[in-house]
Amino acid sequence: MIDNYPIPTSCSYCSNEVIYTSNAVIYGREYGNGRCYKCTGCDAYVGVHTGTNIPLGRLANRELRELKKDCHALFDPVWKQNKNIKREHAYGRLANVLGIPHGECHFGWFDRDMLHQALTILRQPDWYKGVS
Ligand SMILES: [Zn+2]
Repeated sequence: MIDNYPIPTSCSYCSNEVIYTSNAVIYGREYGNGRCYKCTGCDAYVGVHTGTNIPLGRLANRELRELKKDCHALFDPVWKQNKNIKREHAYGRLANVLGIPHGECHFGWFDRDMLHQALTILRQPDWYKGVS
């Protein structure tokens, strides 16, 4: 199932136009599924779900990308290193603690404030206790 995040048309950081383009404009060559939404005025961008034009989440600038990376560095080992914890359950647990619907619990969807809230939770060693 693909979650639908709205297609960006103008940049939330600098208000310039956002275009659907090859991600070679970011990486120097096409990477992954090769497509992205890219701001024409700053370095904000977001990838798409493969085979679609549906963005993976909100347009991210450097700060947001760093915050997302920090979240994944704390979150991913929980389900990758615990055989009895499934990824979806870990997201469900995080959603519960954040007080948001499970379907909206994607780091790529979070804004700066939500990412900071998530990081605060993820830094507590036992945040995922209760995941089954
Ligand atoms: Zn921009």
